[in-house]
Amino acid sequence: MSVSQRDLDAEIEAREGMTIAEIFARSGEDGFRKVESETLASLMNEEMVLATGGGTPCFGDNMDKMRAHGMVVHLATELSTALGRIEDPSTRPLLAQGEAEVKKLYDSRQPIYRRAQWNVATDGKAPEEVAAAIESGLLATGWMPEFLWSHSSAVSLGERSYPVVCESGIFDSLGALLGGLPPESSIAVITDDNVGPLYGARCIEILEGGGFRASLHQIAAGEGSKSIDVFSSLCDELIVAGLDRKSTVLALGGGVVGDLAGFVAASLYRGVRVVQVPTTILAMTDSAIGGKTGINTSHGKNLVGAFWQPSAVFADPMLLQTLPLRERRAAFGELVKYGLLDGTIFPDIEALAPKIAASELAVDDLLVSVIRRCAAVKAAIVSADERESGLRATLNLGHTVGHAIEAAAGYGTLLHGEAVGLGLIAACRVSRELGLSQGDLEARVGAVLQTAGLDTDLEAWLRDDVLARICVDKKRTGRHLNFITVKSPGQVALTPLDVDELKRILSR
Ligand code: NAD
Ligand code: ZN
Repeated sequence: MSVSQRDLDAEIEAREGMTIAEIFARSGEDGFRKVESETLASLMNEEMVLATGGGTPCFGDNMDKMRAHGMVVHLATELSTALGRIEDPSTRPLLAQGEAEVKKLYDSRQPIYRRAQWNVATDGKAPEEVAAAIESGLLATGWMPEFLWSHSSAVSLGERSYPVVCESGIFDSLGALLGGLPPESSIAVITDDNVGPLYGARCIEILEGGGFRASLHQIAAGEGSKSIDVFSSLCDELIVAGLDRKSTVLALGGGVVGDLAGFVAASLYRGVRVVQVPTTILAMTDSAIGGKTGINTSHGKNLVGAFWQPSAVFADPMLLQTLPLRERRAAFGELVKYGLLDGTIFPDIEALAPKIAASELAVDDLLVSVIRRCAAVKAAIVSADERESGLRATLNLGHTVGHAIEAAAGYGTLLHGEAVGLGLIAACRVSRELGLSQGDLEARVGAVLQTAGLDTDLEAWLRDDVLARICVDKKRTGRHLNFITVKSPGQVALTPLDVDELKRILSR
């Protein structure tokens, strides 16, 4: 089947009977955006591939309209690549503003572009390669019902692409949704002994209702289960349960279950399909997305594992109602991190803080929207950098000091997210001391963490044993580590920093 291919600028020019430059000259940018928005709306109900201008999604409700009516694909580029592609700068009125302004514009548009369902990396790729990546991504996820896409994101990795869905109530539809995946014989649900009693039986019932053979496999809750022993016994259990190469592993739980079940799926018969059904805020926004799977060894966390992308991530925020308060708060530390990576989310994170601290979690629009947007940031980052060569490293914001605090406290004393919260405060402080941050970001970040009920007393943690741990950070290369600094919400950078300089700043 072929569909028509149209260009929004050409449609605008035809409609107005003048060039884009002439429209800008006649009515300024405001006038142009109005015409653009009208033209876009007039095309929304036709079937076509439409190429829009770079500004189109950034004005009015254009992005919402596009998401509601179809699939939005962001052709992600570095700024230098984008500039290099322009043949005739005189046709681009916004470029006349100078380099710094263009960079500012580029940065401010990234969070908007990331709202596209698909963020497809294009740097260094020929147009045919990009087209093939988009096509194989759409084919790989073609089983997803169309209506679900308006609130979902995709991880774009060619034929290994998959949807990341967050919808209240979607748990009950799992049987039907998985039916859309390629045919399979049976599903092994891996869960832990907190989540299993709450949702295990229902999950099996829902899957059987969808026509699957389903078995339930329960591990002890907690980090201790990310071990070679539990991994090994799970593999045996799944073989005994009759799983074959066509089977699917379904990870029902938090990051522990997701990492372990993902690694089992990556290894069993050299790899079977895995579907992630995250049940913690952390797993919904982070660990279930991106395909990092693994277990711990006596030498450290996550030292053995594999990249193994899931076929789908289905998050149902209703399941969060049973998540213990402390877990919810700790996950909030990581949400604040996302707010710092994407400044457009930060105000909603601030609004969410008191709700996180409440004894009963309200699963409302704000919570669902924050989870979706954080998950979309993770999905876009993974799409651009699956193996963590650059961009994905920014996800470690707050973790250099956070990990040191977590380890010095003794694993299990502080939850990871609690330590990350403190690490974020440290990152703000270091950024300020290096002259890189604006305003009192440390106070703002401290306030939002405190409202959510997290420990913000960084001073108490800047002990010698914590500082000593910073040396053994695995991200360290030579005497320098790549510290992730933050200028303001949305503006982070990898900053090479001498370890001793970092310690000096922190011990002031
Ligand atoms: P977790 O899986 O240990 O879950 C936290 C606790 O909440 C557990 O006791 C669990 O049984 C319980 N629980 C989970 N969902 C529940 C629910 N809906 N109702 C009631 N109780 C529930 O912890 P986590 O914070 O989700 O994940 C932490 C793990 O994730 C770590 O092992 C970390 O290494 C890993 N991680 C992985 C990645 C990745 O990219 N793969 C990223 C970040 C973290
Ligand atoms: Zn983390």
